Amino acid sequence: MTGLEVCVDYDAIAHNVGVLAERAAGAQVMAVVKGDGYGHGLIETARAARRGGASWLGVAQPGEALTLRAADDAGPLLTWLYGPEVPAAALIRHGIDVSVGSLPVLEAIMRGADEAGQPARLHVCVDTGLGREGATLEDLPGVLDAVAHGRAEGRVEPVGLWSHLAWADAPGHPIIDEQARAFERAIAMADEMGVSFEVRHLANSAAVLTRPDLRYDLVRPGIAVYGLPPVPDPEGRDFGLIPAMRVTTTLALVKRVGRGQGVSYGHEYVTDRETVLGLVSVGYADGVFRSAGNRAGVSIGGKRYRIVGRVCMDQFVVDLGPEPGAREGDEVVLIGPGGPTAREWAEAAGTIDYEVVCRFGGLRAKSGDV
Ligand SMILES: *Cc1c(COP(=O)(O)O)cnc(C)c1O
Repeated sequence: MTGLEVCVDYDAIAHNVGVLAERAAGAQVMAVVKGDGYGHGLIETARAARRGGASWLGVAQPGEALTLRAADDAGPLLTWLYGPEVPAAALIRHGIDVSVGSLPVLEAIMRGADEAGQPARLHVCVDTGLGREGATLEDLPGVLDAVAHGRAEGRVEPVGLWSHLAWADAPGHPIIDEQARAFERAIAMADEMGVSFEVRHLANSAAVLTRPDLRYDLVRPGIAVYGLPPVPDPEGRDFGLIPAMRVTTTLALVKRVGRGQGVSYGHEYVTDRETVLGLVSVGYADGVFRSAGNRAGVSIGGKRYRIVGRVCMDQFVVDLGPEPGAREGDEVVLIGPGGPTAREWAEAAGTIDYEVVCRFGGLRAKSGDV
């Protein structure tokens, strides 16, 4: 069979959430399952994360949150990324927590609450320095003031105050502490204005693993849930996390060629001896990074081989060496135990492992879940 097979080990996801819950040491865990569970499948990942001890789930898009409710997920669930077109009434009716970082969105949420006939469970997002979502510290008092009014009118129920870090994967970076101080100022501002929140949350995976002081009441790990640590483990054990995604295909063709044979478009690789080439019939149309040509590796029969020459739309070639044991139909591991890691692909392709699993995971839907 050709084509990519993407398998997800959901027990690994449950295990990883357990590891993170232990690290969170008393803070609650919100498993971030945006981006179709970082390519691992939204619904299945959500179930595994709950099983592993995530009391909360977090998604960027409202549609993802509604999909989880339609799949009978009933626990605390936050969505944070939308403009005033947010389907607020539907979210509120489904008991989904919503985030606001601006007055126009807060107005839309309050109108939704009126329509739903119940208050919106609200998390106020502060931009402490990421320069992305949330109200700046300058704009925060205006938002908090409107939240206080909304609360008095029974239209909103303040639940969380939160922010997101820009440099957490570079432990020791001064911006981390700057953001933490800004977050403290936001908390103090809310206190002074008499707006109290049940949970304050700031930490992503990297912060959960490296900054115990930033865990607050709730942590929001994403990438670590999938077994991919964003920072090195000083003990060299990947914090006990297990990568959940396995990507495989099969060898389509094995053939002997002479010395001096150029391989694939542009002959960017030329054999320096008589050797055997293996053809793998997946390419960039299947999510294999073209930029990983001549760099990334795969594993066949427990041995590592480098991709040689350019990755094409539907295929790439590996040099199996003069006396390979490999044959047509053998399994080719692109990512997984006994093969390369998502991080190795990321390094070969000049990206991050987040994009690697999202990209390959995008095929999971196409190739059928396993
Ligand atoms: C994606 C995301 C996270 C998770 O980040 P990781 O680095 O994957 O742990 C947490 N919070 C917000 C707001 C996010 O967008």
